[in-house]
Amino acid sequence: MNIQNYINGKFHNPIENNWIDNYNPANGEIYGQIPNSGKADVENAYNAAKAAFTKWSQTSLEERSRILIKISELLEQNLKRFAEAESKDNGKPISLAKAVDIPRAASNFRFFGYAITQFASESHESVGQKAINYTLRQPIGVVGCISPWNLPLYLFTWKIAPAIAAGNCIIAKPSEVTPMTAYLLGEILTEAGLPKGVLNIVHGLGATTGQAIVEHPEIKAISFTGGSATGAHIARVAAPLFKKLSLELGGKNPNLIFADCDYENMLETTVRSSFANQGQICLCGSRIFIEKTIYEKFKIDFVNKVEKLKVGHPSDAKTNIGALVSKSHLEKVTHYINLAKQENGKIICGGKTVSVEGYENGYYLEPTIIEVKSNDCRINQEEIFGPVVTIMPFTTEKDVLEMANTVNYGLSATLWTNNLKRTLRLSHQLQAGIVWVNTWMLRDLRTPFGGMKASGVGREGGFEALRFFTEAKNVCIKY
Ligand code: NAD
Repeated sequence: MNIQNYINGKFHNPIENNWIDNYNPANGEIYGQIPNSGKADVENAYNAAKAAFTKWSQTSLEERSRILIKISELLEQNLKRFAEAESKDNGKPISLAKAVDIPRAASNFRFFGYAITQFASESHESVGQKAINYTLRQPIGVVGCISPWNLPLYLFTWKIAPAIAAGNCIIAKPSEVTPMTAYLLGEILTEAGLPKGVLNIVHGLGATTGQAIVEHPEIKAISFTGGSATGAHIARVAAPLFKKLSLELGGKNPNLIFADCDYENMLETTVRSSFANQGQICLCGSRIFIEKTIYEKFKIDFVNKVEKLKVGHPSDAKTNIGALVSKSHLEKVTHYINLAKQENGKIICGGKTVSVEGYENGYYLEPTIIEVKSNDCRINQEEIFGPVVTIMPFTTEKDVLEMANTVNYGLSATLWTNNLKRTLRLSHQLQAGIVWVNTWMLRDLRTPFGGMKASGVGREGGFEALRFFTEAKNVCIKY
């Protein structure tokens, strides 16, 4: 199935007629083509967005809210169709797309539909100076949103919903690896009555379409989620143009397990935090540190559970681990498994590609556990972003904190303990934008979301996202 750009409320082929093949990771076959949009397509999208901005930015909050909630309802009504498209495009189990990806995309629109009606700004009385200051939060204008392939519609809408809610018009680019649900969203936008030009979706490679969005001088803000190297590149391009930037980047997240935790809950959740979505979630806990006194027991129990995970075709309801997103990504992940062997890592579970009957050319890999001797090895320092985790024991709280923080990234950390004082000590010292204690991936959309260090700049979520997508202007009145 070929897809098209959605510009000014209509579907269009790319002007220069350049196309990219779209692969089904479950069988390795090409199943359609997507536009590789150039500067001219981005310019068309920009012109449509600019034309729509005056009216949209003046549209009442109630009306914006009504449309966002309508989009959310339509997504829910089309759950099956969207989940099937997401699973086919990405290789993730259909059960996950149905339970998480599409419902969460719908929640993003609903949440920001409500949030915008509660968004407020400050006023400051300058006591003694007979003046009052108030802050306006005005929409920025035309903004760019660029998203990755791992949670395609979920992360695409996480940017789009607050940007529209705040009164901006958008040029959005989903990952070229997983464009399908963003394409389908176009139909829903029209049906929900979103005015033409408010949201324009252009498809294509990062180096062409993405680059054209980032370098466009009139696109005033870029919200980007993706790899840290890409984020650094985008920052270099956008900085001299003085664009507002939000960067949500990679992670190499520690999972700290103390002997006093609720063991069964920890074990079950750790299987999920290691391998959900084939380990292709920026929040997965890929470095697992276990207190020495329970290390051997954990090792046996963890391997036992992980060996039972079923690697299979994404449409099979029994599948726990689907296909990795692409051939090149599978090669990257297996390269790291080989590197682990060179670094004296011991593969204690998995490590090999899997041939799924009937789908022998799909990109399947066993969930893999590697026992490492030191936190300094590359396998423990570089983001792999696949179904691969490392385990190693620790003795003291001080040691594990040091190892957890000795990494370039700082997105999330998970802590398993029932000791309140330790919980407070560690969660305040861990260098991460999100610390989960005795849980993982429990999300409340009002909370700030983002990373430290190479994991990003800025925060999304709740009012933080609405602040990002608005300009603060102070008005000072003397009376
Ligand atoms: P990527 O950086 O390769 O691509 C992300 C997006 O950027 C894609 O749409 C791509 O086309 C575009 N892009 C690439 N080069 C560009 C350029 N020069 N200019 C503009 N756009 C460009 O990342 P990916 O492989 O799609 O995603 C995986 C990465 O995303 C991992 O590192 C993962 O940790 C990260 N991620 C982070 C979060 C978070 O919230 N922090 C969430 C999900 C994924």
